[in-house]
Amino acid sequence: MVTSGGDAPGMNATIRSVVRCAIDQGLEPVGIEHGYSGLILNQVIPMNRRSVSGIINQGGTILRSARCEEIKTKEGLDEAVRTIESNAIDALVVIGGDGSFRGAQEIRKASGRPVVGVPASIDNDMWGADETVGFDSAVNTAVRSTDNLRDTAYSLDRTFLVEVMGRVRGFIALEVGLCTGAEYTLIPEVKEDLNKIAQDLHESGHRGKKCIIIIVAEGYGDSREIASYLSQKSGLETRLSVLGYIQRGGSPTARSRRLAATFGASAIEALLQGEEASIVGLQGNEIKIVQLSETNSHRKEIDLELYRLSRSISR
Ligand code: ADP
Repeated sequence: MVTSGGDAPGMNATIRSVVRCAIDQGLEPVGIEHGYSGLILNQVIPMNRRSVSGIINQGGTILRSARCEEIKTKEGLDEAVRTIESNAIDALVVIGGDGSFRGAQEIRKASGRPVVGVPASIDNDMWGADETVGFDSAVNTAVRSTDNLRDTAYSLDRTFLVEVMGRVRGFIALEVGLCTGAEYTLIPEVKEDLNKIAQDLHESGHRGKKCIIIIVAEGYGDSREIASYLSQKSGLETRLSVLGYIQRGGSPTARSRRLAATFGASAIEALLQGEEASIVGLQGNEIKIVQLSETNSHRKEIDLELYRLSRSISR
């Protein structure tokens, strides 16, 4: 197994589940360190039940991760295949996000070995998986931080623009906006009229309501510019708080750990049932096997109903 791309809380719980389920099935799990770089550089370590002791509650990944450009080249892929062959690796479990799954498909093609992906990413932007390992944890971290900011916003009559992660998508922002009761939520999937928001802020300032939280997804635009635009146009000073990498770390929530346990078990089961190029997906509460080619060629849609609900109960 390999953990690749951005780390996410619950990757360790996933590794633990994969290792122990594999051993239960009579398999011999090995870990590849540093993402796809370790696959190219032959960084392979044996794993046993004890090598994953005490990690269920730890963020990050004990196998470490990496962003690896070389895997996109023929030379890199050839080296990866060499590592797979020289270590007699029969199948690969890739724990990561959508970028990692694109890499997984290439490795599958080049090596001919079965590959199964386990969705683990805070961004939750993977088609075929309603939820990824780590998403709930990142959302909870951002919700707690935003609650803290609201204390100051209330006490000092301040407007805060809170930037959350999610790359080019608004899954984290939508959830955080909804769960913190943010007055406005800006997601890349829906363009809002900032001028109208500034006017609303101006009017609510006049009515005496100055404590306002605006959640903005990092992919929405330049948050600094948005904050300064809103400040100027509304006359209400809008402070920017970028939550940043704190959302990626920390102990996984119970929900992320539960998903990690079931995804890990399903990944091993999928390989034993002969799946060759798939991911363990999630539809509703049910784990569903989805082909890698499908997940890599589809875009996951954001829940616009939820967005409308968030708006209608926000002020
Ligand atoms: P995540 O998996 O969290 O989405 P990235 O998008 O950074 O993170 O992808 C992780 C790694 O997957 C990249 O560093 C690269 O090694 C590999 N990867 C990403 N896109 C591709 C691609 N189109 N082809 C091959 N490998 C890819």
